[in-house]
Order: sequence, then C-alpha cells, then structure tokens
Amino acid sequence: MTHHVRILDDGSIRGDLDAVVQRVHEARRPVALTGAGISVESGIPDFRSPGGLWSVFEPMEYATLSCFLRNPEKAWELYRALGTTLLDKRPNAAHVALADLERAGRLAGVITQNVDGLHQAAGSRTVLEIHGDHGSLHCLKCHGSEPFTKAHLEPGPVPRCASCDHPLKPAVVLYEEPVRAMEAIDGLLRSTDLLLTIGTSAEVAPACLFPAHVRASGGHVIEFNLQRELHEATLGSGGAFVEGPASATLPAVVERLEMLREAGRPS
Ligand code: ZN
Repeated sequence: MTHHVRILDDGSIRGDLDAVVQRVHEARRPVALTGAGISVESGIPDFRSPGGLWSVFEPMEYATLSCFLRNPEKAWELYRALGTTLLDKRPNAAHVALADLERAGRLAGVITQNVDGLHQAAGSRTVLEIHGDHGSLHCLKCHGSEPFTKAHLEPGPVPRCASCDHPLKPAVVLYEEPVRAMEAIDGLLRSTDLLLTIGTSAEVAPACLFPAHVRASGGHVIEFNLQRELHEATLGSGGAFVEGPASATLPAVVERLEMLREAGRPS
C-alpha cells in the first residue's frame, strides 16, 4: 500500500515521514515535476481554479497561437493580465527546498509546467520549462527576443520587434504551439529512479503522463499535494502521497534528509 503522510497546519505529522525521507535518501537520481500548486503560496493562483485567469479569459479564445496571429491586441489583454499576476512574486519555501536539494547533489533537475520563473529565482539551475517562460518576449518572424518589463503591462499598442517590427509575444507556450524541452525532459525521465511530483494535477498532458512513465520503467513516485491526484497504481507500494502545502512538506523532507546525512557522517 502507498504510504500516506499528512502534515497538519500546526506542523505536526501523521504517518511515516521517515519512510518517505529514506526513499529520497536512497534514490540515485531524483527528479521533480512541479505544477501550479507549488506557486500558489507565492501568491499566484492556479489559472484553472475558480476566479483564476482561465475563468476571466477563455483559454481557447485568448491563449491560442491563432488568436495572437489574428488579433494580437486581444491576445495582449491576456498577456498583460498574466504578467500582472506574476509581477513581483517571490519563491516560497518549497521552491527554496528544491534548490537546496539540487545544490546538495540530491536532485537531478526540475521539470515545471509553470511559467513564473520562481525555480530559477530560488536558485535551481536545471529547470526544464514545458510551457516556456513569461520573462521574455519573442519575435516569431526574426526570432529576436527581449525582456518582458513592467512597461509592457501598461495598456497601449502591442509591443513590436525592434528589428523587424513584427508583434512580439511572451515566450510562453500557447495552445497550438509545441511544448518545450521534451528531448531534455525525456532524458531526465529515462535516467531517474524517483519522481517527486509537486502541486501538479493529473490532467494536463504531457506532464500528467510522466509519473506512470517513470513507474513503468521501474522508478518510484512520491506525490506532494493538497489532495491526491495520482492513481494508487502509479504510486504503488514503493511510492507515497505527502499531503499538505508544499511549502511545509518539502522543507520537512529536506530538513530530515540533512539530519540523515549528518548522522551518516563519520565524526
Ligand atoms: Zn523580429
């Protein structure tokens, strides 16, 4: 049966957290897969939650490549709203915990569905962004790029490329555009023996396929989430579900890993 660990609001723990920590400790090449849930506590609501971005801007109407090509003024209403949502947000303890893990040589990389850049801001170095990033603007005609700045959030004409005058778009992956970094992601997934899924739903492809993929090739999966999204078969007897906000659960695991390492060190 899958381990179920719960971290309560007062910080107390229900379940065998040490078994989870041991699993991470023994893994040769853990990889993290993150979704919207990890950034909620940085003040970025899940776009798909009630009141989220997608309830204001119908994604198939605004977030498509054809919308940008046909009517960039309309598409920029969404890009400005998204940019405003992401403005001045800081990484939280969960992002920092993953950066710490990588620095300690215990995490091979982060695969993220987020476009907020908070993993890099926390200090993570290997970050594969499936859906691109919102931090730069890209020219589809001459492939130039420039940073997305606060000035671009002001209502007004659509920003245009300084070289060729084509309308610019944020470097996020729109519907009708291919996802990014799949080759590198495949490599990471093939090499991992433990996937940590964090704040990600089991609905959006291709990321929702990764846990079962790792499991099928003999790896283990540990899910960190407010509610369980993955099937029992995907987690399995070697996996675990750690329930609670990632900003509490991940630091708890990282802290205990550090204690294990200290205990194993010759004095
Ligand atoms: Zn251009």
